[in-house]
Amino acid sequence: MSRETRGVVLRGVEKHYGEVVALQSVDLEVRPGELMVLVGPSGCGKSTLLRLIAGLDDPTAGEVWIGERRVDDVEPGARDVAMVFQSYALYPHMTVAGNLGFGLRVRGMPRVEIGRRVSRVAAALGLAELLLRKPGQLSGGQRQRVALGRAMVRDPGVFLFDEPLSNLDAELRLRTRDEIAALHRRLGTTMIFVTHDQVEALSLGQRVAVMDRGRLHQVGTPEEVYRRPSNLFVAGFVGSPPINRISLSRDDRGCLTGGPFALERPAGLDRATLGVRPEDLAVAAGRDRDASGPGDFRATVLRMEALGSEQRVHLGGPGDAAWVARTAPALRIVPGDRVSVTVAWERGHLFGPNGRREDASPQPAGRPAAR
Ligand code: ADP
Repeated sequence: MSRETRGVVLRGVEKHYGEVVALQSVDLEVRPGELMVLVGPSGCGKSTLLRLIAGLDDPTAGEVWIGERRVDDVEPGARDVAMVFQSYALYPHMTVAGNLGFGLRVRGMPRVEIGRRVSRVAAALGLAELLLRKPGQLSGGQRQRVALGRAMVRDPGVFLFDEPLSNLDAELRLRTRDEIAALHRRLGTTMIFVTHDQVEALSLGQRVAVMDRGRLHQVGTPEEVYRRPSNLFVAGFVGSPPINRISLSRDDRGCLTGGPFALERPAGLDRATLGVRPEDLAVAAGRDRDASGPGDFRATVLRMEALGSEQRVHLGGPGDAAWVARTAPALRIVPGDRVSVTVAWERGHLFGPNGRREDASPQPAGRPAAR
C-alpha cells in the first residue's frame, strides 16, 4: 500500500552525550524495501541510532539520508518515517479509532481520507471489531497492534521499530514477530527494527546489523553473521548457547596450542582464539568410537540439559577446558561418562589477537589435507 519506499543511509554518524560516546563512526546502508534488524546488548546505541533516523535527536557528526534526501535538518514529521515504540504510547482517553487517526488529524488530513485509512489498516490488523474501545480495554497484543496501525495509517516510506515486542509474553512475541514479517512482505516497505534479542534478530531480519559499545561490528544476512562472524564479539553475541572459545598461543614447535589442540599456525599469528559452535562438536559415547583423529579429544560429561528437540551437553577437560555441545536427544549419556569429541573443523573459526576473524580456517597440526 506504500507509494514509494526509501532506503536509509548513515555516513560517519557520531553521537556524544557529554562524555558518553553513544555512537562512533557508524556507516550503514539500509536498502529500499529491506527489513534490517539492529541488534546488540543493552546500552550499545541501538535506540540512539533509531532516534537519529527518526529525527528525535541530532547526530554530533555525520550524515543521515532517507531516500535521495539528506535529512539532518529536516523535522521529524517531515521525514516520511513512522516509529513504533516498546511502550505503545497510546492515548488512554481516545478510542482505538481515535488513536489510529490522531497523527493524520494533526496533519490536517481530510476526515474522509482519515476514515478510509483507519478502516483499511484496522481491517489489515484485525482491529475492526475494536475501533470503539479504549486502550485500557485491550490486551497487550491488541495495544501493540494499535501502535503498529498508527504507524501504518501514515503510509510512511520507512518504519522504525524500537523493541516493540519487549512487553509481550513469549507466545505473543512470536506471533507478533510473524505478523511484522508478514506485514513487511505485504507492504514491501523499508523497516528498521531494534532488539537486544539475537534470536529475534536472526529470525526476523533479512539483514542484521550487530552493534556493541556504539560501534557497528557486522552487517550481513543472518546466515553470514552466524557462519562467518567478523570478530569475537559477533561470534559470542550471536548463537545460543554461545560459541565455545579456546585461547591458543604459539608453542616451540611453531603450532598454535591450547586446551586439547595443536593447530597449524597461519603466518604471523602468535596468539589467537579458536571458536567452535556447540553444534559443531560431535559427541560419541565412550565405547562407540575412539578419539583418534588429529584434533579429536576425550572429555567428561558434567551436566546435561534436555530441551526436547535437542540436548546440551556440558563437558569438562582436558585440563580445565569447558565446552558445550549440542546433540540429538537420542544420545544416551549421563554425567560422569567419558566421551569422544570430534570438531567439525571446516566450520571452526579463528580470531587474531585483535579479535578479528582470520582468513585461514583452523586446521589440526599433522592432519592430512582434505581431499
Ligand atoms: P540501547 O538502545 O542499545 O540500549 P541507547 O541508544 O539507549 O542503547 O544508549 C546508548 C548509550 O548512550 C548508553 O550508554 C546510554 O546510557 C547513553 N545515552 C542514551 N541517551 C542518553 C541521554 N539522553 N543522555 C545521556 N546518555 C544517553
